[in-house]
Amino acid sequence: MPDFVEILKNRDPHEREFHQAVHGVLASVKPLLDQRPEYGRAAILQRMTEPERIYTFRIPWADARNQTHVNRGFMVEMNNAVGPFKGGLRFHPSVNQSILKFLAFEQVFKNALTTMPMGGGAGGADFEPKGKSDMEVMSFCQSFMTELFHHIGPNTDIPGSDIGVGAREIGYLFGMYRKLRNEFTGVLTGKSIGWGGSLFRREAPGYGCVYFAAEMLAERWNLTLEGKTCLVSGAGKVALATAEKLIELGARVVTLSDSSGYIYDEEGIDAQKLAFVKRLKYVHRERIREYAEKYPHAVYTPLSENMDHHPLWSHRADCAFPCATQNEIRLKDAYHLINNNVRLVCEGANMPCTSDAVEIFLDKKILYAPGKAANAGGVAVSGLEMTQNSIHLPWSRQELDKRLKMIMKNIHATCLAAAEQYGDPGNYLLGANAAGFLKVADAMLDQGLL
Ligand code: NDP
Repeated sequence: MPDFVEILKNRDPHEREFHQAVHGVLASVKPLLDQRPEYGRAAILQRMTEPERIYTFRIPWADARNQTHVNRGFMVEMNNAVGPFKGGLRFHPSVNQSILKFLAFEQVFKNALTTMPMGGGAGGADFEPKGKSDMEVMSFCQSFMTELFHHIGPNTDIPGSDIGVGAREIGYLFGMYRKLRNEFTGVLTGKSIGWGGSLFRREAPGYGCVYFAAEMLAERWNLTLEGKTCLVSGAGKVALATAEKLIELGARVVTLSDSSGYIYDEEGIDAQKLAFVKRLKYVHRERIREYAEKYPHAVYTPLSENMDHHPLWSHRADCAFPCATQNEIRLKDAYHLINNNVRLVCEGANMPCTSDAVEIFLDKKILYAPGKAANAGGVAVSGLEMTQNSIHLPWSRQELDKRLKMIMKNIHATCLAAAEQYGDPGNYLLGANAAGFLKVADAMLDQGLL
């Protein structure tokens, strides 16, 4: 089986994140491939790791001084065997084909776990929205959409949000799509509430992640999140919603971060302090260091590029919720977490733990939930937004929250059942990979050689 990743590495040596994502799935699906030789004959694995198609394109736009810039856009359409392509759009300077292939690959499994008819994809650009004016962001989004609109549609590919893409960016993208196509359809998710968005989309991945963690604690150890000290990384959509739900359930959230540094608040971040962070991030688009200026008892620690660990993960706590970006928990961080008493790691971000960190968690029997299961609430509520758009009916927050809880409970049960069936009870990574793989593989077999 290691040969398979080697083949991918030889073919596309620079795609490290994509290789890592495939490696993370291979060990789990090996028993399935052994049991079902028809998957091998039909080259299911090879087909699942080769995107249906990838578009790359030029995005010229002008800044406030009328200087023209050129960014690179991507759309990775990974697999649509169980439904139209669906995944996030990421605007961040680090975006490249490898990162989007990893996100799209993870999304295939995640979307399958929701049981909704959604295939997997991902898109984005190496554009940095931080520090840009609204006009500049609009100029970029409109240019991005003048190419993207050729490839998306409510039954083809329905992008949503990821890092650097929020309600503002979705608004500009949607406006341009509507203008170019002259139609008003649910082609993007994460829209504002006034024009087809879900009342619950921004909260969904974070709330869902906490529901998944609560389910793990209750089912496996008969515990709740109440009184638990929690480390949360990030200060974006997923992190702030995760922190919000944790606080609501009585947990003590002590950290938040951005790419410049992190804050540690020994007293705990309460609802009022979180409201301050939300304003800071969503209204003023400021940095997390401002928190320590407003609440001087909190400690701000700046980060530097060459650190071999992330000090946020060195604090004593019960649970960890990495919610910022890929590979933010490395091997050294994993040891710090374990030595500091953390017994649950629940991924709000996609692939936030390196492969060796995950191995340690599994080895030490930490309750570990991979992002493809734990943060699937985001895309599940996007699926509900798509349904609302097609039936032209809004649902209340309460209704959506009830559905989200049920979806996360079902994904949790599916992972546990598959882990047990394939020989390692309690291994959520195995369970999520096996259950997602089976659904997509069987659909591919049913539909013939494509
Ligand atoms: P946001 O852009 O809203 O927030 C991202 C946060 O992570 C920011 O605080 C950002 O800091 C920080 N961050 C980004 N890149 C880095 C980096 N290279 N190093 C350190 N910190 C970084 O993104 P989201 O909250 O939407 O997404 C966060 C994670 O959750 C991603 O892994 C995403 O794929 C995943 N996810 C998102 C979903 C969604 O619906 N949005 C759904 C499911 C998963 P700074 O401001 O300094 O860049």
